[in-house]
Amino acid sequence: MFRRWAGNLPGHYPDRMENIAGGTAAPGTEADESEGGAPARVLPVAELHLHIEGTLQPELIFALAERNGITLPYSGLEELREKYEFTDLQSFLDLYYANMAVLQTEEDFAAMTHAYLERAAAAGVRHAEIMMDPQAHLSRGISLETCVNGVASVLATSQEDFGISTMLIAAFLRDLPEDSALEVLDGLLAMEAPIGAIGLDSAEVGNPPAKFERLYAKAREAGLRLTAHAGEEGPASYIIEALDVLGVERIDHGIRCMDDPDLVERLVAARTPLTVCPLSNVRLRAVDTLADHPLPAMLAAGLNVSVNSDDPAYFGGYVDDNFAQLKAVFDLSDFDKARLAANSIHSSFASEERKAELLEELNSGEVAP
Ligand SMILES: [Zn+2]
Repeated sequence: MFRRWAGNLPGHYPDRMENIAGGTAAPGTEADESEGGAPARVLPVAELHLHIEGTLQPELIFALAERNGITLPYSGLEELREKYEFTDLQSFLDLYYANMAVLQTEEDFAAMTHAYLERAAAAGVRHAEIMMDPQAHLSRGISLETCVNGVASVLATSQEDFGISTMLIAAFLRDLPEDSALEVLDGLLAMEAPIGAIGLDSAEVGNPPAKFERLYAKAREAGLRLTAHAGEEGPASYIIEALDVLGVERIDHGIRCMDDPDLVERLVAARTPLTVCPLSNVRLRAVDTLADHPLPAMLAAGLNVSVNSDDPAYFGGYVDDNFAQLKAVFDLSDFDKARLAANSIHSSFASEERKAELLEELNSGEVAP
């Protein structure tokens, strides 16, 4: 059974898992006690579904506002923190876009990226594919150069500085017209932006993947990797459309595939990666509670799922928090955690060499520098 997911992972993994307790809990999370009483090891993972704008913590928002002379409509940190307790998509999007106002200069984008990588390293992230929404910044009068160069300047040395290899993904807002996305992609290609892939995000329902057929064709021609949000709130048919019309290699979210047994069979057979974000799904009410999340059923079905944080500052946690809460609710076994970690590495757009390195690290229990 494990061979189906382990791929080129050497050794008999479940047995080895017994020997790799150790490591430390990430900041702000409780030590996860294994059966022997030792803290559970923080597994090396690839984070494949992460919006850099969704990592803006309240403290950084206030710091950047002060640096840029921006007056925030909150009396202080406490009031802003309370706003993070939203209960629906619209209240999230309102706050998400409003908070971006503090991102004005390359240094601001760099500070945000630095803060994410520092936190991600503590969460066990060893490879990160990071989405950014250029259109959300262009519409505020911030240039492509400012947002791209600010983020990219930190990603350029992420492996040396944080032990995290990275790729920047240009994500497009699907509630805007395709022409807008095409114009931005042209701009990114013209400036030779260091992007490795494109994605599609924001309000899904009513904005089916097929709307962006030309965008994906152009990105493919340019040699970029392809991913798209599909089947978060939208129907399973959007997943099929993203695969067949856009030709994506990976589906972000994809939980609605569970409504379509034929699609599940297809995704299992093709090993199509699904970047699942459990805490995000709870917070945006794609599922009622974490206990209702389809992740265990997806794993049982043999789907190639990984665990990701989406917009961690807004949705209650980073990758390690997602794992900790999954374990608490579903009593996720070490085997399942390792399987999810291995899936994330296999599903990444990292080089084969880097994947092999991370799988070896996962398998050996060692933490590489
Ligand atoms: Zn997302």
